[in-house]
Amino acid sequence: MNRTERANRVLSGLRKVIARPETELSHENPYELIVAVILSAQCTDARVNMVTPTLFEAFPDARRMAEAEPEEVFPLIQSISFPNNKAKHLVAMARRVVEAYDGRIPDTVGELMTLQGVGRKTAQVVASVAFDRAALPVDTHVFRVANRIGLVHNADTPLKVEQGLKRIIPESVWGEAHHLLILHGRYTCTARAPSCDACAVSDVCRYFEETSRLPGSLDGLDPAHGKYYCKTRRRYFDQPDRQTDRYGTEQLCCPHCGSMNVFYSKTGATARKVRDFRV
Ligand code: SF4
Repeated sequence: MNRTERANRVLSGLRKVIARPETELSHENPYELIVAVILSAQCTDARVNMVTPTLFEAFPDARRMAEAEPEEVFPLIQSISFPNNKAKHLVAMARRVVEAYDGRIPDTVGELMTLQGVGRKTAQVVASVAFDRAALPVDTHVFRVANRIGLVHNADTPLKVEQGLKRIIPESVWGEAHHLLILHGRYTCTARAPSCDACAVSDVCRYFEETSRLPGSLDGLDPAHGKYYCKTRRRYFDQPDRQTDRYGTEQLCCPHCGSMNVFYSKTGATARKVRDFRV
């Protein structure tokens, strides 16, 4: 299966289980959206939605925000991460919007990226969600899910993931794909404990395929003989070597024969790892 076919299968599988592929940030207009997205950096959407009603009451548009000082914004957002910096960014963003765009949030990725606190991901979210522009923002969830499933290969930066996804997903569904992958990552393919058993796309997921192939635990190992056990040589050892496997993941290996068929003698669990792309 090539990556385009895999992407088609993933999107059609996720459409069946995600009824509303849209942002979970509460907003009524582009100004409220850009504020919410700036606040959501390294913070949950749920937490952002708790502070924005009061914030928008106090500063209902870019002009009112531009007249404020960061010290006035700070108390209203102090329960979210990095409130100091975000208060400064919000005020500076609004001032630039007033000065350069007559108080209206610009609608292109390039213009949006000239605003304080607005990087490539934020600009693309606003352009896509508020203005229906073709964009495919990559956040931590999209990054992890795209790599785990195998929609991209060895893409180690958000930009590489974005470029890889854009090559295999039709432009007409970039916005939808962004939301499907985010929501899948947020609720099913979570960073620490992906729910592979309940996943609608496990049949086309590379990570699932690789973890399914890992050997089961060995019984009867004796840690008194050494921390590790090489099943190939059937001998214990304490100091493993390391090798990179064909997927690019560094694995422990036997210092005597180089085999990666290594187990922890205390638990009997395999020492083999599958890269899971947590960031
Ligand atoms: S099978 Fe597991 S790792 Fe793969 S997409 Fe589903 S939840 Fe994520």
